[in-house]
Amino acid sequence: MKLDILVLSVHPDDAELGCSGTILKHIALGHKVGIVDLTRGELGTRGSAEIREQEAMAAAEILGIAVRDNLTIPDGFFENTREYQLKVIAAIRKYQPKIVITNAYHDRHPDHGRANELVEASAFLSGLRKIETSENGELQQAWRPDLVLHFIQDNYIKPDILIDVTDYWDKKIESVYAYGSQFFNPDWENEPQTYISTPEFINVVAARASEFGKSIGVKYAEGYTSRKILGVDNLFSLK
Ligand SMILES: [Zn+2]
Repeated sequence: MKLDILVLSVHPDDAELGCSGTILKHIALGHKVGIVDLTRGELGTRGSAEIREQEAMAAAEILGIAVRDNLTIPDGFFENTREYQLKVIAAIRKYQPKIVITNAYHDRHPDHGRANELVEASAFLSGLRKIETSENGELQQAWRPDLVLHFIQDNYIKPDILIDVTDYWDKKIESVYAYGSQFFNPDWENEPQTYISTPEFINVVAARASEFGKSIGVKYAEGYTSRKILGVDNLFSLK
């Protein structure tokens, strides 16, 4: 299956927090979008890999994405090594996306920055035909996405581009709350509280999107950075 946009982020729930408004908007525009989570998030304080998998599939349903896979790379301990690059390359070649979206290039959680490095390197290497990968015994074709964008997570990072996601905000929050084990949930009040399980955390996600939105004259926006200079077809695509 060929995708227009492939989100490669490290923990199930990163995509929902970081770019689900953009996912919903581009699906509504007729593009095909999928998510491949790098890990099962098995080191998370609350929940378990199995619970998070069920939550990720429920969120996928809410978003209406074409596919959601998991590379089962070890949470917390992976590095930007050949072994894991080959896994990410195989996923990029399988779905041949024009655009890859990944984690923030630096963040409070060290997995986020390392996932960014791993995905950036793999997206480039995926275009080198002498690196061989296979799927179901068949050699895969080399494929390099046109663009790799990084969403913005806990750390404030000045975005290179903002996308208006106002019309998709409520659905985005619904997809985030599909992770009942991770975010504010009165049913889990006897479980340990974490940085992301307090009501304040979601307020900060909304405040960030509102601040980004305000700066381009809309209610909510998601921000991205890119290592490559970004261009647009014409001036009227800019706000
Ligand atoms: Zn994360």
